[in-house]
Amino acid sequence: MDPLAQYDTVIVGGGPAGLTAALALTRYRHRALVAESPAPPRNRASRGVHGMIGLEGATPAQVRARAWAELDGYGLAERRDVTVEDVTRAEGGGFHVSLGDGATAWSRTVLLTTGVIDVHPAGVEGFAECWGRTVIHCPFCLGWENAERTWGLVADDPEHAAMAAAGFGAWSADVIAIAAPGMARAAETRRTLRAAGSDLVEGEIVRLHHRDGDLHTVEMSDGTLVERQTLLWSPPQRQVPLVTRLTRSLGLALDDGFVAVGTDQQTSVPGLYAAGDLTTRWEQGAVNAAGAGATAADALHFAHGR
Ligand SMILES: Cc1cc2nc3c(=O)[nH]c(=O)nc-3n(C[C@H](O)[C@H](O)[C@H](O)COP(=O)(O)OP(=O)(O)OC[C@H]3O[C@@H](n4cnc5c(N)ncnc54)[C@H](O)[C@@H]3O)c2cc1C
Repeated sequence: MDPLAQYDTVIVGGGPAGLTAALALTRYRHRALVAESPAPPRNRASRGVHGMIGLEGATPAQVRARAWAELDGYGLAERRDVTVEDVTRAEGGGFHVSLGDGATAWSRTVLLTTGVIDVHPAGVEGFAECWGRTVIHCPFCLGWENAERTWGLVADDPEHAAMAAAGFGAWSADVIAIAAPGMARAAETRRTLRAAGSDLVEGEIVRLHHRDGDLHTVEMSDGTLVERQTLLWSPPQRQVPLVTRLTRSLGLALDDGFVAVGTDQQTSVPGLYAAGDLTTRWEQGAVNAAGAGATAADALHFAHGR
């Protein structure tokens, strides 16, 4: 790469948000660079992405390969398998984008589509093997694959635990809540859940017993064994290191841990846009991310058109 290759937009991240934006910007005849970290993506454990019409059940790798085949057909968007290390303001306008291979690009605008990092619980044996199969973060993504099984909702607080009685009947008639010891209003929550045919188990989960990722028993630190075939477990999330760095260096604003954007996906930093999971906790998903990527592309075109 020319040390100061010039782009209309550098897109950081090549998931559904970034690649949808790349396709739209290509069709608007913008020159875009998609920088995609070579590390495996967040949904690497997925055996098939669900809910994307026309791509139902395709693996994450197949979705990305298909997107690049489409982009390559236009021959305008450039791809680099490299991590973006930093984004700084350039004198005279635009941004300098520092890439992990030592190159620097100049871009009029930057679109962050870096997703989020799931912070998996430390020390729970069997979690990694079951994650994305029978330990699921979202019923909309993987409820179908786990239908008619016994479910445990790993809950953080009484309101969350109460959902065990009502929220997941479409997939399972047997859903209990599992909460860490000391959860507030535990006795009251247990009574309410039992009255609704559910239950609350309190304990610290230490081991998931499974056969090749097919969960059958949850073991607590006191040795209690709870027979469950599926856990609905949404671990905490954090931003990727680049985004955390930009909060300090560019003053990129977060809202409750997620990148704050307007309806046009513009962040608090003029010219810096964000789309996809990094902007939202409860509206994540491949299609939502793709939609936000498309919105960002339209906004970039109209606000910074060529
Ligand atoms: C196990 C699992 C199964 C799922 N199943 C489904 C499903 O069936 N249906 C569904 O709709 N959703 C599903 N999801 C959620 C879905 O994968 C995400 O909502 C979606 O991928 C978000 O898209 P995104 O483009 O915002 O981010 P991502 O897809 O996470 O892409 C972000 C990309 O940015 C890259 N990146 C990060 N930092 C940098 C950097 N500094 N430089 C360059 N690149 C960087 C990352 O490596 C990553 O490839 C699943 C998630 C998980 C964890």
